Amino acid sequence: MSGLTTLGAVGAVWLDGALVEPGEATLSVLSFGLHNAFCVFEGIRVHSGRPFAVAMHAQRLCDSAHEIGMSLPWTAPQIVAAVDTAVAAAGFTQAYVRPVAWLGDERIGIDGSGTTVHLAIGVVRWPESPASRPPLRLGLSRWTRPAPTMAPVGAKTSASYLVGSLALSQARADGYDDALLLDHRGYLAEATGANIFLVRGGELVTPIADTFLDGITRRTVLRLAADAGLPVRVERVTLDDLAAADEVFLTGTASGVAAVGHAAGTDYPADRPVTELLRGRYLDLVHAHRTRTGSEEASCTRSA
Ligand code: PMP
Repeated sequence: MSGLTTLGAVGAVWLDGALVEPGEATLSVLSFGLHNAFCVFEGIRVHSGRPFAVAMHAQRLCDSAHEIGMSLPWTAPQIVAAVDTAVAAAGFTQAYVRPVAWLGDERIGIDGSGTTVHLAIGVVRWPESPASRPPLRLGLSRWTRPAPTMAPVGAKTSASYLVGSLALSQARADGYDDALLLDHRGYLAEATGANIFLVRGGELVTPIADTFLDGITRRTVLRLAADAGLPVRVERVTLDDLAAADEVFLTGTASGVAAVGHAAGTDYPADRPVTELLRGRYLDLVHAHRTRTGSEEASCTRSA
């Protein structure tokens, strides 16, 4: 890994059990994970010096690995501790943390059994998003999220990012900020790196997470909405529902709660009371959080 990314300086890298110099954090060009997409990862934001929802991210990394039959030699609490070590070593107040696990180079071919599982955690400086950002413009992608019989859709695998990256680069080439993807049945799924919410008649609506990643920000926003007494429906969402919405916003670790001004041909009003309420509560939470949940006690080792 070089010392720089498009985001900024790499502050620290933890690799297979210890902090290493970023320049020494390398992997073999024959890694099975690189050739066969046997790779799972996470993205965690550090706000005010602390990684937000780190226990949930560590657990999701374990769950993703489990879903593709990869035996991570680290438990969720050990991953939390490793993230803390890397974040402390980097010393950044605002940062992005990327834990990534992949299969090593002991085998070439289709069967990856017997290969070593590696885990790296990189910490990159990432300034806080500006308080006011222009609302996003979303195009509708020609790519769709695969059916659960075609890919491990609930896992955060690098394999699922090929379609997302293709959709995003096409959207950017077409002048949009991001793309919306439908699922294999034609229902609205998500954006390329964020989940979607609609507001209609004061009710919050979001698609059922059965063909795409159940975002930790999505779960957090659902909880914040319940705390605020907002009615919430988690159900199948169509393009007609999208066109009829009063407000639309995206949720994700990278962007938090992000207002949408245009999606798939529809413009939305600049007045977004529900989006602003939830955005404010989310920002308060990520900057104030301190306590960690019981999920930190969970382990990667689960019975199948
Ligand atoms: N969907 C996809 C495809 C993503 O990459 C992300 C970002 N991890 C999300 C949804 C939102 O997930 P989270 O809120 O956990 O960041």
